[in-house]
Amino acid sequence: PDLNQMIEQARRHGDKTFLVDFSSNGQERRLTFEQVFAWRDQLVPLLGIGRGDRVAICMRNRAEWMVAYLAVMKAGGVAALLNSRGAPTEIVAMIEDVEPAVVLADTRRAELIRKGGYTGRMLDLTKPFPPEEIARRQSGEIENTGSAQSGDDCAILFTSGTTGRVKGAILSHRSLITGLMGSQLSGIMVMHNMAKAYGMSPEALMANLPQQASLLVYPLFHISGLGSAFLSPLLAGSKVVIMRRWSGEEAVRLIAREKVTNFAAVPTMIWDLVNGAKLLDHDVSCLKNIGSGGQALPINLLDSLREHCPDIVLGVGYGMTETSGAFAQALGEDFMRKRASAGRVLPLASVCIEGPDGRILPAGESGEILVRSAMVMKGYWNRPEETQKAMTADGWLRTGDVGYIDEEGYVFIVDRTKDMVISGGENIYCAEVERVLSEFEGVTECAAFGIPDERLGELLVAVVGGDVHNADRIIDWVAERLARYKAPGHVIVSDGPLPRNHVGKIDKMALRAAWPQLAAAKMKSG
Ligand code: ATP
Ligand code: MG
Repeated sequence: PDLNQMIEQARRHGDKTFLVDFSSNGQERRLTFEQVFAWRDQLVPLLGIGRGDRVAICMRNRAEWMVAYLAVMKAGGVAALLNSRGAPTEIVAMIEDVEPAVVLADTRRAELIRKGGYTGRMLDLTKPFPPEEIARRQSGEIENTGSAQSGDDCAILFTSGTTGRVKGAILSHRSLITGLMGSQLSGIMVMHNMAKAYGMSPEALMANLPQQASLLVYPLFHISGLGSAFLSPLLAGSKVVIMRRWSGEEAVRLIAREKVTNFAAVPTMIWDLVNGAKLLDHDVSCLKNIGSGGQALPINLLDSLREHCPDIVLGVGYGMTETSGAFAQALGEDFMRKRASAGRVLPLASVCIEGPDGRILPAGESGEILVRSAMVMKGYWNRPEETQKAMTADGWLRTGDVGYIDEEGYVFIVDRTKDMVISGGENIYCAEVERVLSEFEGVTECAAFGIPDERLGELLVAVVGGDVHNADRIIDWVAERLARYKAPGHVIVSDGPLPRNHVGKIDKMALRAAWPQLAAAKMKSG
């Protein structure tokens, strides 16, 4: 099937509330499933596109973004999802790379894109359309586009740029549908967990459950926003409370007000909720499930969540833009039993570990994580060399992550291949050091990375955030728990939150660049 056929089935949720959106000057908008579909149907003929045409979407999180995406799917187009937070020149470079038939934007983005020098076709979807335009387009029949083949391109999503220049992953209908099945699976697992906790059968629980509500915290152009926070609730008939941009305080307010039952976020956002906005001081009994992914969840943070909200089912997911979402997951007790893991490989994917010599390694041994699944992308847009490097001839994707699988099929991420520091000839996995740092009292976020060093080649240093009092003990703390050479040469306690990229992941490139100033400032203050 194509994704649109799957989406079409969500129309049956009819009068239930689908979207709660405050993006229009803080004005609240509530839209039912039926209203969203009707809006989409109005938009389709206005797009003026045909099957296989690429359409770029560049807007802040808002209802129009979602309607635009659904309209592109209905028209048989390929949606290229642009980072709406990029600089004008960055956005325009992406548009030029993708060569879309039309760009769908909000007013602010449309201005920026014009300023960046783009002269092609563009529609501002946040402005009402001139009636004559609507009449003209609607007088023509909506072209019957027929259904796409499951291997056809469906969307182009860009990676987060954690390790370098962003790359556009081409996802087929099949990949996205399989990715959605993965998040549906996790929904079913949550249900089973909850049913067990209440001593009910899952069917009885389902029948008695109020409508589920999830908080959209990711940008919609990121795979976690598109898949698990938008399309998955659409299919499931859940309400989506749209956050235009991330704020811990705003999130807590919305969770309580809109009775949010679940959300997934990167650990830094969970950190904001717990430590910044003091989530646990509020009545958030509506919240049943919090999922974490995108980066390792610091152990201290996991512990305080567990301690303060024992009734919330905590979960972890491991996936990439290139895999249309999570291909490994663990929830509740399974996760608690394997706290350091990134989840168990879903039945929809296979994972193997490759050693440096290309040999497949047995359980417990670390190497590069490879994944094969219908979820995996077709390749990178306009980057044949990168595609060739990332994908083997027999369909395995190199994740660029280093890790191992245990006997039970749980994946443990040890590091990223590009995040390894070589210091004095010794390999140090930053993620391993970060895991130990995150257990130090008061530490709620941290980043370890290498800086150039005349003698060692690279020197490992770290920045930690949180309420840290015995900072002078940190280096010894690591040295006592790992090999001596893995202890950072310097550790700086940050005064505020660590810098983040647009998805909310800690931005190590920014930290590395800021290190000289950070170090100089700390020297001065002693
Ligand atoms: P780029 O590829 O541009 O450098 P990126 O890899 O951060 O950026 P994404 O596709 O958003 O872009 O992120 C996928 C990566 O996030 C994975 O390869 C992995 O390194 C990391 N990741 C995802 N989930 C987890 C998790 N549960 N624990 C640890 N790391 C995770
Ligand atoms: Mg990546």
